[in-house]
Amino acid sequence: MRSSLRKRILVTGGAGFLGSHLCGRLLALGHDVLCVDNFFTGSKDNVMPLLGNPHFELMRHDITFPLYVEVDEIYNLACPASPIHYQHDPVQTTKTSVHGAINMLGLAKRVKAKIFQASTSEVYGDPEIHPQTEEYWGHVNPIGRRSCYDEGKRCAETLFFDYHRQHNLRIKVARIFNTYGPNMHPDDGRVVSNFIVQALKGEPITLYGDGLQTRSFCYVADLIEGFIRLMDSPDEFTGPVNLGNPGEFTIRQLAEKIIGLTNSSSPLVHQPLPVDDPRQRQPDIGLARRALHWEPVVPLEEGLRATIVYFEDLLRRGLA
Ligand code: NAD
Ligand code: UDP
Repeated sequence: MRSSLRKRILVTGGAGFLGSHLCGRLLALGHDVLCVDNFFTGSKDNVMPLLGNPHFELMRHDITFPLYVEVDEIYNLACPASPIHYQHDPVQTTKTSVHGAINMLGLAKRVKAKIFQASTSEVYGDPEIHPQTEEYWGHVNPIGRRSCYDEGKRCAETLFFDYHRQHNLRIKVARIFNTYGPNMHPDDGRVVSNFIVQALKGEPITLYGDGLQTRSFCYVADLIEGFIRLMDSPDEFTGPVNLGNPGEFTIRQLAEKIIGLTNSSSPLVHQPLPVDDPRQRQPDIGLARRALHWEPVVPLEEGLRATIVYFEDLLRRGLA
């Protein structure tokens, strides 16, 4: 007999960076977790510690194809998230965001599940207002290299709100800002993983452009707490809601912090700025504070220390 508090929860992209932390957290809360992943960027290693748990199931499946399972809640995280990965096969990226959303929304409609969408600060594009609030409609290039991801995620948001209006689906849309922590892919090209691996290996730290562009970095444990609070919020609250850490740093400051924390002698080198690289990004989290009573609590240095320990271990095992 299932306890009424134990929910059956589907996490798509559950073997990825964020998904693996979310699966672990949901299991710790006493739920049954079905992790669905096609292992494009995720890996079994990320969920290895969970495999022995009888309340955890791992299924290889691509969400661009329909899925028929019985669940109470769905967290839709499946989608490559780093620019290198999502630009590798841009058509598949759009398919995952759009067809994947249609399939998961169709599933949610059929089984009357509540559904969460991992949207992104990229829906704001290269923003003209700063910091970004949820009311801002964005400044997005529809035909650039990042568009498969940005427009795919924007279309997914449209689908979520149309299913909500048309079919009364219970939806929760989070706009996630740059997040970092253990289980990041060492080769995903994202700035935190790149800089830590470069610093630990004593290789040059690659600053793209002048390094004065800004980002705001959220530690993964803080973000996952925001996911859970959003999913558990009253049905009337759909989002979209920004989840991220408002502490804003230039990429050069991040490099200097990582060099300091790793005692590295790596030099800084400049490389060309990728096209459509946003100049600045900082979430306004006023809505999350008011509606979810949520805000990040892990300072950048503390989160970086934990992330450095993770990458040191990967390097020791020859995995980075
Ligand atoms: P990730 O690449 O580590 O995880 C994505 C997971 O989805 C991987 O395990 C991958 O194998 C899986 N996947 C990809 N396509 C799939 C498909 N068609 N079917 C089934 N599984 C598929 O990335 P992440 O950082 O964990 O991001 C998770 C989600 O959060 C993504 O939707 C991403 O857009 C969003 N997000 C992340 C960040 C961040 O800073 N990490 C920021 C904004 C938004
Ligand atoms: N970046 C950098 N060096 C790197 C990787 C990234 O200077 O080795 C910069 C990148 O140009 C961007 C910022 O760091 O301005 C964040 O990049 P990331 O790919 O992590 O995320 P996103 O651009 O999607 O915010």
